Amino acid sequence: MDNYSFFDNVNQFVVRAAQYMELPQGLLDQIKECNSVYQTNFPIKLDNGHYEVITAYRVQHSHHRLPVKGGIRYSSFVNEDEVKALAALMSYKCALVDVPFGGAKGGVKISTRNYSERELEKITRRYTTELIRKNFISPAQDVPAPDYGTGAREMAWIADTYSAMHTNEINALACVTGKPISLHGIRGRTEATGRGVFYGIREAVSISEDMESLGLSPGLEGKRIIVQGLGNVGYFSAKYLQEGGAIIAGIAEYNGGIYDANGLDVEEVFQHMKENGAVLNFKNAKNIENSAELLEYECDILVPAALENQITEENAPRIQAKIIGEAANGPVTTEAADILQQRGVRILPDFYLNAGGVTVSYFEWLKNLSHVAFGRMDKRYEELTNRGMVGAMEEITGKELSDTQRQLLVRGAGEIDIVNSGLEETMVNAYHTIWDVMKTKETPSLRIASFIVAIDKIAAAYMSRGIFP
Ligand code: NAD
Repeated sequence: MDNYSFFDNVNQFVVRAAQYMELPQGLLDQIKECNSVYQTNFPIKLDNGHYEVITAYRVQHSHHRLPVKGGIRYSSFVNEDEVKALAALMSYKCALVDVPFGGAKGGVKISTRNYSERELEKITRRYTTELIRKNFISPAQDVPAPDYGTGAREMAWIADTYSAMHTNEINALACVTGKPISLHGIRGRTEATGRGVFYGIREAVSISEDMESLGLSPGLEGKRIIVQGLGNVGYFSAKYLQEGGAIIAGIAEYNGGIYDANGLDVEEVFQHMKENGAVLNFKNAKNIENSAELLEYECDILVPAALENQITEENAPRIQAKIIGEAANGPVTTEAADILQQRGVRILPDFYLNAGGVTVSYFEWLKNLSHVAFGRMDKRYEELTNRGMVGAMEEITGKELSDTQRQLLVRGAGEIDIVNSGLEETMVNAYHTIWDVMKTKETPSLRIASFIVAIDKIAAAYMSRGIFP
């Protein structure tokens, strides 16, 4: 795997998908390439008085729509190839779920565990300044979001730095999404990716003909799931899947994993990890010191939610899951995907399954541009109208509803209801669009079908601008 290129890996799929389409070669080449690649190296003063030079990137993969959008990753593995691949996946992801943005990604080559909060704040603010200097951040051009190693705290530092340097820009806070609610973030963003993973998996297992061919019964109830990574995406995916009736049989973290065929309580494991720094030694669960082994344990669905390149040609033959839900970006290599497909394993591709985050980021951006929270204008009016309708129904039927029934019927939609409804609509519709393309074009996988849907939309955007005939 020494010569492994994540970006080449993504492009291999693009080329395969293009074989089912009729695109001019030049247009395909344009779609595949990254439009702008920026690397910066800047110094920061550490708490101990020493200086360290930090390497960081921002890649804008596709300008077919603006702004471009994509998370910022803090990881010691960050490199140009990885950021390019993740930026490309963002373009395909946005197109796939009809989020009107081009794709981008940022990366800072640090392991967050090695820095204090003060140092992380310095790094984040300096990185933001470097992005501002080169026009690689703005509400109209390039809007970052959280990714591996970053969250609402980092997004707040970015928004604060940007708005402090753009005091006259009324939409300045739309320069980044995934912000805390107190800084004009949106309810439901933190959990959006995991919630989207849940909707996607739920939809996939609801199709009887697919489940029959996998030897599974339709529905989430009782499906045994192993999750890799109990961070933002892994935790919320596991939590919603468990609430939806699935059994979380295994959880893998970087420093060890646990397995219990009878099911693990996700919330309890999460608290246990917070207290002990590891999931190991949880109640009656079996410890698996080398957590990579857990991916090969018996289960119905495997959800890698940590990093890319986790299922390779080396371990793919030993994977026992019948469905792999790619919650992380690029967890299955091209070679591994081929092996798994031959073995009849169904893969729900990353740029579909983890699109919930960017979908709700889009809602946050819209909220920031409109300067009003969803539901603020109509919630009370909706309640009033519903109350009137319920009253009329009670009068006509002569029957009175219980307080709980009435509450349920009259309730107007608040921000979280609207966000979750928009997210569910997006994930459900996209799944069926992909599934239909897979059937009509007879593609070998959902991933190829997803690329066809995405490339088609990107190509149409380029062509509508007269760039290609
Ligand atoms: P995170 O930093 O919140 O969590 C990642 C977790 O994985 C951490 O708990 C970490 O300890 C664990 N981990 C690292 N290496 C591991 C290993 N070898 N085995 C098991 N666990 C390991 O990151 P996140 O935001 O949850 O992102 C996870 C993946 O999801 C990434 O691929 C990211 O690009 C993708 N993603 C994230 C979002 C988002 O909204 N955060 C959106 C789309 C895609």
